[in-house]
Amino acid sequence: MLIVMHHHATAEQIQTVEQAVAALGLQAVPIPGQERTAIGVLGNQGYVDDATIRDLPGVLEVIHVSKPYKLVSRDFHPAATVVQVGAVAIGNGHPAVVMAGPCSIESREQMLAAAQQVKAGGAHMLRGGAFKPRTGPHSFQGLGVEGLQYLREAGDAVGLPVVTEVMRIEQLDIVCRYAHMLQIGARNMQNFDLLKEVGRCRWPVLLKRGLSATIEEFLAAAEYILAEGNSQVILCERGIRTFERATRNTLDLSVIPLVRELSHLPIIVDPSHATGKRSLVPVMAKAALVAGAHGLMIEVHPEPDRALCDGAQSLTGAGFAELMGQLRHLQQALAGC
Ligand code: PEP
Ligand code: MN
Repeated sequence: MLIVMHHHATAEQIQTVEQAVAALGLQAVPIPGQERTAIGVLGNQGYVDDATIRDLPGVLEVIHVSKPYKLVSRDFHPAATVVQVGAVAIGNGHPAVVMAGPCSIESREQMLAAAQQVKAGGAHMLRGGAFKPRTGPHSFQGLGVEGLQYLREAGDAVGLPVVTEVMRIEQLDIVCRYAHMLQIGARNMQNFDLLKEVGRCRWPVLLKRGLSATIEEFLAAAEYILAEGNSQVILCERGIRTFERATRNTLDLSVIPLVRELSHLPIIVDPSHATGKRSLVPVMAKAALVAGAHGLMIEVHPEPDRALCDGAQSLTGAGFAELMGQLRHLQQALAGC
């Protein structure tokens, strides 16, 4: 529920409304706006009878929010959230942040080479998977903790913060020890216990959209993290499952402006998993920035043809550097739009 106050409502009237909300056993969250204050109501698990609130002095309107997310919504939090990962800021008013690196951490040498290449190309963060959610059990499952060590060593060597996927609650402590940002993969977007646990730790989180998740389900998944007190969440559109098999997934670009309307959280795009095809990655990366993405996640491998995972969608170091040059020009052009 959202209680909108008159623009001339006094501080005392606002306080009376907050007390009336508390009397219902609910939590009042004041949302000061430029023109008027609103009061968000949290803690209800169903419809709230507003009889003791709607006629109080200073109340303009009571809106019953039926969406499964509140904390994530612009209604409850009009100001855009900027997520800080070390020195890197992701969100409105900041240049697009590019996270790049191999799908999987395969060896110390591979990770160091990839880190040097993406750093040289101008990436802001280094990615790499140590715990891999593979479709089949016979595929490479990742190096686990050894991989986390290589990732962090490589990130430190080139001065880039690192992001990596955590698949299970039991991995959370060890992943937090090495990573600057936690990634929740598409297959775990609705692993609600994991989301809650990640919400309790205060690490920044990259939440990927589920394979067939609607936007409402995507935002409701983020709500689980915010509801536990962690608002450092970045959403990531990585393509969704459709009837089309010519591309690995279908990149839903319209989700970017829509999420920017509905939510205050930053949103980035992963054109690598969205297309599954190296030749399509650069153009879709550019399209994502035009659509308003706050950043990109791009797979880069020193030798894509020998990659243990997702080589077909991975850029070479040279391909990445070329794309980054194009993105710089594009961002200059977009600044004038
Ligand atoms: C990945 O980033 O390597 C990955 C597995 O992505 P997704 O969860 O989007 O499939
Ligand atoms: Mn991958």
